[in-house]
Amino acid sequence: MFIGHFGAGFAGKKFEKSASLGTYFMAAQWIDLIWPILLMLGIEKAEIKSGVTTVTPLDFTYYPFSHSLFGVIVWAMLFAMVYFIIKKNSKTAIVLALLVLSHWFLDLFVHIPDLPIFPGASIKVGFGLWNSFAATLILEGLIFVAGVFLYYKSTKTKNKIGTYSLIGLIVFLVAMYISNLVGPPPPSIEMIGIVGNAQWLIVLWGYWIDKNRE
Ligand SMILES: [Zn+2]
Repeated sequence: MFIGHFGAGFAGKKFEKSASLGTYFMAAQWIDLIWPILLMLGIEKAEIKSGVTTVTPLDFTYYPFSHSLFGVIVWAMLFAMVYFIIKKNSKTAIVLALLVLSHWFLDLFVHIPDLPIFPGASIKVGFGLWNSFAATLILEGLIFVAGVFLYYKSTKTKNKIGTYSLIGLIVFLVAMYISNLVGPPPPSIEMIGIVGNAQWLIVLWGYWIDKNRE
């Protein structure tokens, strides 16, 4: 899942306004932000296997630290703890923890059974919507549209940048998503790691939008 997680991040602002949109993006996408790093370090593993699902050619063979249920619970607690230590705001910390957790549960719908429950345990889950283009597009599209709508309703632009930076990001995310769906499979796992790490730029983009909206 890609834009669905950013939809969840957008929606975060509706529930608690004190954190920046960039922070909500970071939380909602956290385990996909650390996954490319673990992949490049060789700690987690994936393979490119055309046809493994209809939507993605990626076979997530080993990613217990970023994408197990136990792992994501630990990450959610750590994320909230660090935020709380810095900002002393417990309500926002809880919203951020829930956003980190939301990633795993949204992934649960689209992934084939490759999401571990616990590192080292063999049980893996996933409802496999990635086997249907239509189902993936509908679920992810709805979450994204709903998230953007909630964000738009809960914030006001301070200037022109606040409008255009938001429109720009929406167009960029949708374009990335479509090119992922219809484009050729990635050339290598290294390339996935590099592109994956570039997602930090979207987090920065979130901070930039937030600075220009209230
Ligand atoms: Zn993920």
